[in-house]
Amino acid sequence: MRVVVLAGGTGGAKLAAGFQDVIGADLTVIANTGDDTEVHGLRVCPDPDLVTYWLAGRIDEERGWGIRGDGFVVHEQLEELGAPGWFRLSDRDLATCLYRTHFLAEGGTLTAAQAQIARALGASATVLPACEEPIRTKIHTPAGERGLQEFLIVDGAAAPIEGVTVDGLPEARPTPEVRAALAEADAVVIGPSNPVISIGPILAIPGMREAIADAPGPVVAVSPFVAGRAVKGPTEAFMAAVGRPVSAAGVASLYTGLLDGMVVDSGDPDPPPADLRTLSCPTLMEGAAGRRALAERVLEFAQELR
Ligand code: GDP
Repeated sequence: MRVVVLAGGTGGAKLAAGFQDVIGADLTVIANTGDDTEVHGLRVCPDPDLVTYWLAGRIDEERGWGIRGDGFVVHEQLEELGAPGWFRLSDRDLATCLYRTHFLAEGGTLTAAQAQIARALGASATVLPACEEPIRTKIHTPAGERGLQEFLIVDGAAAPIEGVTVDGLPEARPTPEVRAALAEADAVVIGPSNPVISIGPILAIPGMREAIADAPGPVVAVSPFVAGRAVKGPTEAFMAAVGRPVSAAGVASLYTGLLDGMVVDSGDPDPPPADLRTLSCPTLMEGAAGRRALAERVLEFAQELR
């Protein structure tokens, strides 16, 4: 069964790692590029890289970003030289960014760069950036517009969120590789990532919703809320900012018209509408076994929906 998973860098990436355990190279991950930014003149692609590190078994699971056991020698030296230090990249993570930046400067595509990075690091699934064109998620706060990374890291995600927009969308399109993967998908899984800032920018790319709806297999979303709470990160604040409850129903309301089914946590306080086929089960992914177990349940559910 060929499965496409839409993901940001944590919840969706963890589920993707579970899927890779079960179906290997039949998995394609479409990763959010709205988080991308430039640091030290380098192109940083947090979500495509985090997905790759999860798939390659290299992620620092405890921290939730960067590469396990990696150092910060280059970062420390950059700071000593006077470079801004707010965005921390570990040494091997910086190497990924150097490689990609040079690859792009030489005329290569982001898709090809990420394919080589995933292959070289040992992922068996395919990792596709959602689009080639630069899209940039912006957070509107009382102090003005902030880049997503500045908001999350410099502001500590503490400022009130007045709105979320994504720059560059009119020019963006799903890549031919994204279209091809969706056209062959026996199931499309919207991973348990932040619906507003991780999945939202992917779905907002013109033509993406249509390409997903045209996939031959069912479209299933997995809620990122466990017992009515986000496991980690600022997802609850982003749901509040778009006026949605922190629940499976809130998530479903952001994916209206797209879903054939939804997987929700058994402890969720507020189920999706009754006309949406729903699988209720424990959705906290603890360790590799937990990630695999959830992937297996989602796969079974998607098969029932076919
Ligand atoms: P980011 O790109 O690193 O910000 O992360 P994502 O948007 O991909 O993922 C953040 C979301 O993952 C949060 O809303 C968490 O609640 C969710 N999440 C993390 N771990 C789990 C898990 O084990 N199960 C479920 N259902 N959601 C999870």
